[in-house]
Amino acid sequence: MTRAAAPTGTVDVAIIGAGPVGLFLAARLAEDGREVAVFERRNGPSGRTRAIGVHPPGLEAIARIDLADALRGDGLEVRQGTAWSARSGRPPRVLGRVDFASALPDPYRFVLTVPQPATEAHLEARLRRSAPEALHRGVRVVDWTVRPGADGEGGVELRTTGPGAPSEATARLLVACDGAASDVPARLGVLVRETPTGDAYLMADLAANDGPVAPDEDGASIVLHPRGVVEAFPLPGGRRRWVVGTDGRPAEADPELLARRIRERTGEVVDPGTATHPSSFEIRLRSTDRFGAGPVWLAGDAAHVVAPIGGQGMTLGWLGAETLAREAGAWLDGRRPLHEALRRYERAHRPRVRSATARAAWNVRVGRATRFPWLRDRFVRAWLAGGGADRLARTFAMRR
Ligand SMILES: Cc1cc2nc3c(=O)[nH]c(=O)nc-3n(C[C@H](O)[C@H](O)[C@H](O)COP(=O)(O)OP(=O)(O)OC[C@H]3O[C@@H](n4cnc5c(N)ncnc54)[C@H](O)[C@@H]3O)c2cc1C
Repeated sequence: MTRAAAPTGTVDVAIIGAGPVGLFLAARLAEDGREVAVFERRNGPSGRTRAIGVHPPGLEAIARIDLADALRGDGLEVRQGTAWSARSGRPPRVLGRVDFASALPDPYRFVLTVPQPATEAHLEARLRRSAPEALHRGVRVVDWTVRPGADGEGGVELRTTGPGAPSEATARLLVACDGAASDVPARLGVLVRETPTGDAYLMADLAANDGPVAPDEDGASIVLHPRGVVEAFPLPGGRRRWVVGTDGRPAEADPELLARRIRERTGEVVDPGTATHPSSFEIRLRSTDRFGAGPVWLAGDAAHVVAPIGGQGMTLGWLGAETLAREAGAWLDGRRPLHEALRRYERAHRPRVRSATARAAWNVRVGRATRFPWLRDRFVRAWLAGGGADRLARTFAMRR
């Protein structure tokens, strides 16, 4: 295939949003020698930490832009997990353990925890190294228009606002990495399914304690209680992320309430005064039936949102971005028509989204409030003892 030259000033790929997926995609494309522009409405990093877990496939993706070691340097390697049964008024009992170190292949025999701001800082620094001018902070994309042309040749024109907004921005391909509230799918006429699951959680990062269900520095704990799950994940710097199921009802993002629920369900005493990033969220799944149309494509949460229980959304976004970068490159180089490149991106990435959605749905289901806790305990204990532990380790680590 041959392609007409792009108009002067046109970048290969413009990206809306400098979240972890937009930054990763930009760094990945820049690494391939593509000219990229990333527009982010926020002036600086958000500082909000949602994603803490980086799974082995995510580490492999990040290794391809030479960031795996830097991320490991800032993170904590979670090598084991324990499932507990708890009832109010009695100490929790171990149902079984999973051992990532023995169940996973080299080189990443663990799930890394790193606060999202640290991950984003590394990605941004990496992008600035290979494309110092690519990131435009404080610039909101307010509109875009696909110009006429066969096989996407006309490109996309963007309208932006903000202090550093360029007077004109055009790109051969536009990728929306603008998160779960993206309106790009709707504008493209792509079908978006939003599914509330009726599950709600309270979450915060707290100073680590050494109580019964969170004893190991490198261990995660899942506590099954009749009123709902309690989860504890170690973080670097002597902290721990706690997540508590709120019995289907959204609760106020109140560290005192979180600490009370943790104590009621596990006996663990945590200090709410040390809480950072308290939040309360309901799970809403989002999926799109296409990952783009013409020269406008979708990636990360703009394309798919899986339940954060099990925390796989960011890794999933990176894996999609890898595939997208490869297929976009094939089109940009004239090796494939646009519709074929998009179809190949969808075909390669859709199965990952399905698996991650199913895994996350399972995680949510197992932790729900139940009137039959003894039945669930019996099932989980038997399953973990009967060879399920290694499978669970691989499933949780996105290795199946
Ligand atoms: C409670 C919680 C815990 C989670 N834990 C994990 C975990 O442990 N591991 C994991 O892998 N995933 C986890 N996730 C999921 C993960 O946070 C998301 O999948 C990930 O942040 C998606 O990244 P993104 O770049 O696609 O979108 P976002 O992070 O939402 O970034 C979108 C960016 O686009 C910008 N933007 C939006 N509109 C515009 C515009 N018009 N112009 C310019 N900029 C714009 C926004 O300001 C934002 O910076 C968790 C999610 C939640 C809610």
